[in-house]
Amino acid sequence: MSQKIVIASRNDHKIEEMRRILEQAGFDWELVGTSEFPNLPDIEETGSTFAANAMLKARGVSEFTGLPAIGDDSGLCVDALNGMPGILSARWSGAHGNDRANLELLLAQISQVPADRRSASFVCAAAYVHPDGTEFVVEGVMNGSLITAPLGDHGFGYDPIFIPQGHQVTSSQMSSDEKDAISHRGKALAALVASLQKSRESHG
Ligand code: IMP
Repeated sequence: MSQKIVIASRNDHKIEEMRRILEQAGFDWELVGTSEFPNLPDIEETGSTFAANAMLKARGVSEFTGLPAIGDDSGLCVDALNGMPGILSARWSGAHGNDRANLELLLAQISQVPADRRSASFVCAAAYVHPDGTEFVVEGVMNGSLITAPLGDHGFGYDPIFIPQGHQVTSSQMSSDEKDAISHRGKALAALVASLQKSRESHG
């Protein structure tokens, strides 16, 4: 029987992406989201780094379910704002998850910043926790720069104002496959797979 592993997320897109990447890497695990555990208490993101928050989610879910768990946390770090919004990306304008308000506020805050100082990076931390005590956290980064008005209608969050380094279009003008291949989340998941493979080799 294949090992069940919980992704600390209710986002079907994230779970599907993880399933695809882990399957391609040869893991025949049964991936489930936290919606399978309706009594799971909310896990507060109280950490001060992406890695700390990813670990909080993975530990919380693994402890509650007794199963191995993967948690992730991500955001946009703007150099002209000393790395903010960072871990506050999802709630930059106040309420959690208002993508359009977050993007508008950020654009207003950097409206006077010239093009050559509009560099930014998307960062994603992914953490793995097993009830046997094995745990690790890895990170992926996508560098780029910010434009002055939104372009494109794919993706989410700050995608419409972010041009990945070496590209001419925003990550919101890319297909999801194109973005996955270069994204912070894609890179973090690839690093997670590499660490899982190492841990599987040493534990048999
Ligand atoms: P979370 O990791 O799902 O909590 O997302 C954190 C926030 O960072 C999101 O609400 C977005 O505002 C931003 N973010 C993270 N990854 C991306 C991305 O790939 N594109 C655009 N925005 C992102």
